[in-house]
Parts: sequence; structure tokens; C-alpha cells
Amino acid sequence: MAKSKKTDDTNDPAPKAETAPPATDQPVPAELAVDQLDLGFREEIASHPGGENIRRCFACGTCAAGCPVTEVDSDYNCRRIIRQILFGMREEVLSSPQIWLCLVCYRCYVRCPQKVNFTDIMRVLRYMAVKENRVSAETFERINELDRFSQVVRHDLVKGFLEKMDVSREDLEGRIAAVLKETVSQ
Ligand code: SF4
Ligand code: SF4
Repeated sequence: MAKSKKTDDTNDPAPKAETAPPATDQPVPAELAVDQLDLGFREEIASHPGGENIRRCFACGTCAAGCPVTEVDSDYNCRRIIRQILFGMREEVLSSPQIWLCLVCYRCYVRCPQKVNFTDIMRVLRYMAVKENRVSAETFERINELDRFSQVVRHDLVKGFLEKMDVSREDLEGRIAAVLKETVSQ
């Protein structure tokens, strides 16, 4: 598992949420199956390094605003994932492809009024999913490779744009096609 980013406030006592509604005031997700809830899920996450501050979350949803993944995929919502955690929806969360869509960018952490650090919680969820063989080590590594490739493509495009360099469309399309072929054939 990737090393978690440490912050000075990780061990701060949780500030009081005086105006925030408790999580249970939120509408219950339609897919909620009460007999399949794991009420220890939140504490299980909190027991992992980086997951401690899940206890501070009051499900305000601020983290969802400005999430770059939500901007391109309206089905991805970190607030929904947080609420599923608080409701104890362990199976749904750990088996969901959504936990692999996060860019691990820490933007939600910066905006969070409770300094919950949802980014590191996402790392914990991934660690748990791999540990329980819900995702193979090969798939985990492949996703890491795709992340790196995405960064290379972004780097080349931005640098080419700013430095007025030619970015060969054929070269770019060739590289993307090769990765795509490799990815879908697995
Ligand atoms: S992680 Fe922070 S911003 Fe997101 S719902 Fe919880 S308290 Fe709000
Ligand atoms: S760390 Fe993940 S959930 Fe948080 S803002 Fe970035 S992409 Fe969204």
C-alpha cells in the first residue's frame, strides 16, 4: 500500500461540529440492506494509518465540491462513499470500482472543515480491497501504470502547448492505442 501522507493535525482532537447534522439525518441510500450493514466498518477504517479522522466526518458533502473526478464523472461522488462508510455499507464500498477512480489529489482534504483526510481514507479502502483479494495485485499495479501514463500524456500536452512545441498527434494516438490494447486484453 502506498505510504500515507502525514499531517500535523492527524492526531488533533476532533473539533465540535455544532451546526452540522448527524450522518443519520441524511436520506438513507436506496440500495441500503439493513441486515447486511457492518456497523464496525467506520472503526475498522479508523484503525488503519490515515483512516483515523473518519470519526470526525459529519457528512457535510463539502469534499464533493471541486473533486476533479466528479467534474468528469457525475456518478462519482466522494460524499456518497463517505455516507456509505458511515452507514456501514462495507461490501458495497470495498467491491465498488469507484474507489479506484480517485486521483488521490488531496483537494477534498484541503476543503474539508473537519480535516478528515478523505484521500488517505481512500488509500485505506484500496488497501483493504487488495488485502481481501477483491482486486488482484496485478490489477492494482495496472491501475498504477495507467495513472503514470495519464500523467505522461498530460505532461506532454501541457508542455507542448506552453512551449509551442509540436505534439505529434500520431505519436500520441499510437501510445494511447497501445495502452488501450494492453488494458482491454487483460
Ligand atoms: S470528509 Fe469532510 S468535507 Fe467530506 S463529508 Fe466528511 S466532514 Fe464533510
Ligand atoms: S482525492 Fe479523490 S475524492 Fe478527493 S478530490 Fe481528489 S479525486 Fe476527489
